[in-house]
Amino acid sequence: MHVTVLGAGTMGHGIAQVSAMAGHDVFLRDIDESVLSEARNAVERNLQGGVDREKLTEAEMDAALARLTTTTDLREAAGEADLIVEAVPERLDLKQQVFSDVEAVAPDDAILATNTSSLSVTEIASELSSPHRAIGLHFFNPVHIMALVEVVLAEQTDDATEAAAVEFVEGIEKTPIVVTDSPGFASSRLGVTIGVEAMRMYEEGVASAADIDEAMTLGYNHPMGPLELTDLVGLDVRLDILEYLREELGERFRPPQVLKRKVRAGHLGRKSGQGFYEWDEGENVGEVER
Ligand code: NAD
Repeated sequence: MHVTVLGAGTMGHGIAQVSAMAGHDVFLRDIDESVLSEARNAVERNLQGGVDREKLTEAEMDAALARLTTTTDLREAAGEADLIVEAVPERLDLKQQVFSDVEAVAPDDAILATNTSSLSVTEIASELSSPHRAIGLHFFNPVHIMALVEVVLAEQTDDATEAAAVEFVEGIEKTPIVVTDSPGFASSRLGVTIGVEAMRMYEEGVASAADIDEAMTLGYNHPMGPLELTDLVGLDVRLDILEYLREELGERFRPPQVLKRKVRAGHLGRKSGQGFYEWDEGENVGEVER
């Protein structure tokens, strides 16, 4: 297939990498040349890491890199596309514009996928002339490691688009789950639910942050506890998601006071050095004193 990825940031370069590794011809487009060269370097580094760990051969790496073209030219990127995946910043107006622009240059039967993590796919697709070929493909970070892709069905998505999207995800050796377009899809909605309950328990003094986290790591085999994960994601990001889910789905997503207080204090988790834990050079160095 000819796969076009729009936006070469954190997610875009990863989507391009896994698509090229699966044998597709990939065109990665960004508006910024320097992002494109950094994206190619990042893909090379990731693949070289795979070669070093003997997960792939040097020849497979070279073949994948040869299938990856970077460009700032939208027509060159999408003029012959079978599948387009947009991974531009999370703004509805920008995503609608990007979809309209690419629809104008892409073949009539190309699938238009969005990697949005929270916006309504139905709304992103609403400005298209043929919205039946729009769908969500929600990848996880880092794309080359994470096995899941949520296939999000917009109101307008038709069966052929759904089937082609599922087939594509399986072809890049990821596992698709199909969800209807609803706030938080399946993954964020469930992940945030555990996170918000963990914060309430912390607030009520049920246990320390580390012990609440161990309840999930040791008791349920989660790779990381919900409070540490909140620190990694960013407390401000979690707060935004909760406010959105509360608006859409109701009071059970009301953000806990402890989260609001920490965000107001600038304690945003790993990126600011403190959240539920203290962080030093990206490493968790222990729980914050209450
Ligand atoms: P990012 O900021 O790293 O990358 C976005 C890129 O899009 C930038 O390089 C920017 O130059 C480029 N861009 C802006 N306008 C463009 C245009 N018109 N055409 C082409 N490129 C354009 O963002 P990201 O973290 O990769 O996120 C991208 C999308 O993926 C968002 O919708 C986000 O919600 C979603 N997402 C992110 C994560 C994550 O963990 N970062 C996980 C899942 C989904």
